[in-house]
Amino acid sequence: MRLALVAIIVASLADPALADTTSGAGFDVTSYDLALTPDMQNETVAGRETIRLRAIDDGLSQLIFSGNALTIDSATIDGVPASPTLKADSLTFDLPRPIARGRTVKLELAYHGHPARGFARSATALYTSYFACDWMICRQNDFGDKAAFSLALRVPVGTDTMSVGRMVSKRPGPDGSEIQRWKAPRPYSAYLYGFAVGRFVSVSETAGSAKLTYLSDVADTAELKHRFAPTREMVRFISDKAGVPLPVAEYRQLLVKGDEAQEAATYSVIGMDELPTKADDPDQDWAIVHELFHQWWGNLVTCASLTDFWLNEGVTTFMTAAWKEHRYGRAAYDAELDVARSRLEKVRAKGLDKPLAWDGHYPTLGTRRAIQYSEGALFMDHLRSTLGDAAFWSGLRRYTRAHAGGVVTSIDLERAMEAASGHDLRPLFAQWVFGETARP
Ligand SMILES: [Zn+2]
Repeated sequence: MRLALVAIIVASLADPALADTTSGAGFDVTSYDLALTPDMQNETVAGRETIRLRAIDDGLSQLIFSGNALTIDSATIDGVPASPTLKADSLTFDLPRPIARGRTVKLELAYHGHPARGFARSATALYTSYFACDWMICRQNDFGDKAAFSLALRVPVGTDTMSVGRMVSKRPGPDGSEIQRWKAPRPYSAYLYGFAVGRFVSVSETAGSAKLTYLSDVADTAELKHRFAPTREMVRFISDKAGVPLPVAEYRQLLVKGDEAQEAATYSVIGMDELPTKADDPDQDWAIVHELFHQWWGNLVTCASLTDFWLNEGVTTFMTAAWKEHRYGRAAYDAELDVARSRLEKVRAKGLDKPLAWDGHYPTLGTRRAIQYSEGALFMDHLRSTLGDAAFWSGLRRYTRAHAGGVVTSIDLERAMEAASGHDLRPLFAQWVFGETARP
């Protein structure tokens, strides 16, 4: 995701109560299944949702989700009516009695409302951006809890939809509507759920065994092909560096108006304003490749919590530099890292310096970005120059393959790099990642 959005996300974390709602909740969501009717004109949503979850703590007595502006019309827990309480940005369901670890629970909900965040507009389309738990019930900041996801969208006949994975069915609905159901190919973190509705032109091409589809309500097929032309080569480059092919059968990029740049599970939304205005300018070449990288680092290999967010964004920022080196030469790689260096130096000059996996509250949003994006990228570059190209890229492949589909903390990267290089990297990780005294 782009830096500006991180500012909003971190602002939303300022309230400790909100942070608490999504960590240590005592349960693990297995699946979210939704049937929603979005209203494009009024930017509202109404529908039903089934959440299946499993207790991971003994004596679980409450189910706590991220709070939002939706109105809950009805709720049942294993068929028994329940009344949630909304307070301090959390939505809490009291269980009839505490349950044991391993027990499963089915929560069924109906709701409607106007999401406070997470809906955005292109010229004629409505699409979601990052804040999934504003338009559905979920746990926004619990990155480590990956769950199955399906979404049936009820829309007027003739409307196109896009969501996670693939459309598994399309059938007539009531009152001239159509119900288009999408299903994720694997469990994903909740912040990666999303959808778009509108009238889209689309064009596809292949990249190895994967399909690349470009959609838009603001560009024709010729422009889509032209704008997204570098994607195939990016996929080839990243697959080689990751040691894992593009982890989705079909990767979609929705081109919208404005300055959007947001990854989601199996697709990304890119704004016209973020695309290069002239060809072969490395300074402008970031949005397509940055969001595409997240299909590997972020979506497939996901940091367990915000503490290790640098594993999503620092690795991706570094890889953007690596793409530029591949595409434009070493000077473009150095220039990208120089930008990161100057961002980091600005916060260090103010005495604001934290290790990469620091789990406290950052004094400013700029500090968090300078650490998790910029210093994260610089640390990856430092690892590369310390270990040499062969061991470094071997370590990155080992890390990516070993944790594909899973959840990681910084130790996982350290172990992969140590295994690939034969070096003891504890001192280096202690210095850069954990802080001298904060090592787990
Ligand atoms: Zn990002």
